Amino acid sequence: MSKKSDVQNTSQLVDRFGRRVEYVRLSVTDRCDFRCVYCMAEEMQFLPRSDVLSLEELYQVASAFVELGVNKIRLTGGEPLVRKGILTLIERLGKLPAELLITTNGSQLPVMAKDLKRLGVDRLNISLDSLQADKFKRLTRTGKLDKVLAGIDAAIAAGFERIKLNAVVLKGRNDDEVIDLVDYACSKGLDITFIEEMPLGAITEHDRAEAYCSSDELHEIISQQYELLPSTEKTGGPSRYYRMPDSGSRVGFISPHSHNFCSECNRVRMTVEGRLLLCLGNEHSMDIRQVLREHPNDPQVLQQHLIQAMDLKPEEHTFSLDDEPQIVRFMNMTGG
Ligand code: SAM
Ligand code: SF4
Repeated sequence: MSKKSDVQNTSQLVDRFGRRVEYVRLSVTDRCDFRCVYCMAEEMQFLPRSDVLSLEELYQVASAFVELGVNKIRLTGGEPLVRKGILTLIERLGKLPAELLITTNGSQLPVMAKDLKRLGVDRLNISLDSLQADKFKRLTRTGKLDKVLAGIDAAIAAGFERIKLNAVVLKGRNDDEVIDLVDYACSKGLDITFIEEMPLGAITEHDRAEAYCSSDELHEIISQQYELLPSTEKTGGPSRYYRMPDSGSRVGFISPHSHNFCSECNRVRMTVEGRLLLCLGNEHSMDIRQVLREHPNDPQVLQQHLIQAMDLKPEEHTFSLDDEPQIVRFMNMTGG
């Protein structure tokens, strides 16, 4: 077994409800080459560079978390692979004794997949909402399906195992493609997770309540074609997984609306501005950028703040489809 999969959960980061934080998601940029309709507005104002954590600051945060017992780091964004110099950060993070994961839209994988594997990235999640080029374009506004499919093939060729596809399904937009997406995942030997849309940031492109497609509806659609066997496997995430008898692929559901997963939450997120978010669905946070900039190169002070921040982690999130979004930040700021 590798040093990374041997890592036990001995995290010193424990919240008021006894939950141990062992998983950190770092948003490394708010920028992206796509403008997915559920994630961003068409016209986005991105942050000035000085507001964003530097690559060195991101490394210091990641290594402080690992020192405290975190065993899983995920880079996300925005599109993490469009951050300038990202490979130099990945090279350093790949040497830490923690699993290194990336969530990506796949557009840069045709050129980067091999390097990511070489530099120590353990696993990839790749977003894919449609297999039809025109629909893919409408959902991502600027994305090109053929590039993403080539990226998925490049990741497989580079030797990544257990690649997972992520699909956000919107009623009347891509809910007719659920089976096609599962077929595609099976044909490539990939897992696939369907995510319920979350009310992060105000969008006008569609009405989120109208577009809402529950995991239960999707489970029902897939069950008509495939036998879904509940898996007891713990993935350390909010996905509920199902196996299929004739396939190595798994189907997962992330259901922030219909199945609350807060009691098992083991994660925190760092926004691109260095705000440590204790919960995706609440604003409880600590300004870690200020700590980093007031106490440069002081890992002790940084670690003390991370430990203190655990007291801010709320018991659960409070998403509602009926109200105005309570969360004003977009997913690209947050690190989905
Ligand atoms: N750009 C990368 C990507 O698309 O995979 C990483 C960042 S993206 C914000 C991470 C994941 O969040 C993607 O799978 C995306 O589909 C999902 N996502 C974005 N906005 C969402 C929303 N409002 N509700 C649910 N999932 C969302
Ligand atoms: Fe970009 Fe990912 Fe958001 Fe789509 S979901 S706009 S690819 S950050």
